[in-house]
Amino acid sequence: MSGPAVRFDVAVVGGGVIGLAVAWRAAARGMTVGLVDDARPHRATWAAAGMLAPVTELHPGEEALLELNRASAARYPRFVAEVEAASGQCVAYRRCGTLTVALDAGDVDAVDELYHLQRRFGLVAERLRGSACRKLEPALAVGVRGGVHAPEDHQVDNRRLAGALREAGARAGVVTVVGTARRIESAGGAVETVVLADGSALPASRVVVTAGCWSGELEGTGGTAARVIRPLKGQILRLRARPFAVLPERTVRALVHGSPVYAVPRADGELVVGATMEEQGDDATVTAGAVHDLLRDGRAVLPGIAEAALVECGAGLRPATPDNLPLIGRPGSGAPDGLLLAAGHGRNGILLTPLTADAVVDLLDGVTAPGLDACRADRFAADPAVGTGAGR
Ligand SMILES: Cc1cc2nc3c(=O)[nH]c(=O)nc-3n(C[C@H](O)[C@H](O)[C@H](O)COP(=O)(O)OP(=O)(O)OC[C@H]3O[C@@H](n4cnc5c(N)ncnc54)[C@H](O)[C@@H]3O)c2cc1C
Repeated sequence: MSGPAVRFDVAVVGGGVIGLAVAWRAAARGMTVGLVDDARPHRATWAAAGMLAPVTELHPGEEALLELNRASAARYPRFVAEVEAASGQCVAYRRCGTLTVALDAGDVDAVDELYHLQRRFGLVAERLRGSACRKLEPALAVGVRGGVHAPEDHQVDNRRLAGALREAGARAGVVTVVGTARRIESAGGAVETVVLADGSALPASRVVVTAGCWSGELEGTGGTAARVIRPLKGQILRLRARPFAVLPERTVRALVHGSPVYAVPRADGELVVGATMEEQGDDATVTAGAVHDLLRDGRAVLPGIAEAALVECGAGLRPATPDNLPLIGRPGSGAPDGLLLAAGHGRNGILLTPLTADAVVDLLDGVTAPGLDACRADRFAADPAVGTGAGR
C-alpha cells in the first residue's frame, strides 16, 4: 500500500458541497485535513439549482426539516461572507426572494394550501392575486392566476460555491487527493486509514464520510446507516439570457396543471430550470420527455424562456433518506471510533451546508451542537430494512 506518509487529523471522503465545507471548516479550526474525491458526473452539487428556500420547501409532516432549513438559512449571510473572504471568489448569493405561482384552479388550491401551512408555522409569506404577481415579476405569463411571495427564500450559485469552498480549503491547508475511496481500515476499534481503489492510502485519526448518495458503498464503516441513502434523480436545464428574452428577476416556482417547475435566475444571465424527482436507482440518463416537459411547463409560466439559449441538459442524484432528513454524526454502535457520517441531504443540501459543516466540525472537536437530534446518523440502526438494500 502506498500513499501520503502524513497522518491527517481528519480524512473527508467525498468532495461535494458537504465534504468541501466540512474540510474547509475543519482546516480553519487548525486540523490537518485530507479530502478524497472522484468528481462523479452526476454528483448532486453540480446539478443543483442553489435555491435556499426553507419557506417554499415546506411540506406537510416535515417540521423537523423546516427547523434545520431555517437554522441553516440564518447562517448563510455570514457563511457566504466567510467563504468569499477565505477564497477570494464570489459565490453569487442573491437575496432575491421567491414567487410561487399557479396556473389553473387546481394549482391555485394547492398554492393556497402551501400558503396556509406556511402561515401556520409563522413563516413570512404573502398571498398575491395574478395581477400582483405580474406586477412583481413582469416576465410572468398572463395566464398566472395567483401566487405566494416568500421574500426570505434566496439562492446561491452552487457551482461557484463549490469552487470557492475548494479554494478556501486549499488556502487553509486541505490536501485534496483525486481518487475513489474503497474502504476504511480500522485498528483496535478505531479508524486508521482510508484505502483508495488504486491501493494508495490516506492515514487519518478521524474519517468523515460525505459521499452523497454513494456513502453506503464504502466498506469498513461497520454500521449500516449510510445504506438507507438512495439516489433520487433530478433532471435540470441551464438556459442563458439573450437580447429580447424577458426572464425573471427572482426565483419563480410554479404548479402547471399539477406539475411543479422552477426557474432560478442568476445575476450573470443564467437561468436554471428544474427539476424532476425520479426514483430510478443509479440511472441518470437525460430523457427527451423530461427536457420537453420542463421546457413546456417553464414556458407556460415564463414565455421568455422560448427566446433563451438552451445550454445544458443534465441530471444529478440527490442523496435521499426515508424521512428526508440528513444523517449527521456517528453511524451507530457497529461503526469504528472516529467515524462520522454527513450525508443524505436530499433536496436541501446546498441550503443545509453551513449548518452541517459547523455541526460536523463541532463533533470533531468533541462538542454535540444542540437541536440536531432529528438527524442523528444512528436513527435507522434498529430498522430491519436497513442494510438489506430495501432503502435504495
Ligand atoms: C436536480 C437537483 C436540484 C437540486 N436543487 C437544490 C436546491 O435548489 N437547493 C438545495 O439546497 N439543494 C438542492 N439539491 C440537493 C443538493 O444538491 C444535495 O443535497 C447536495 O449537493 C448533496 O451534497 P453532497 O456533498 O452530500 O453530495 P454530492 O454533491 O453528490 O457529492 C458527493 C461527492 O462524493 C464523491 N464520491 C462518492 N463516492 C466516493 C468515493 N467512494 N470516493 C471518493 N469520492 C466519492 C462524488 O464524486 C461527489 O463529488 C438539488 C439536487 C439535484 C440533483
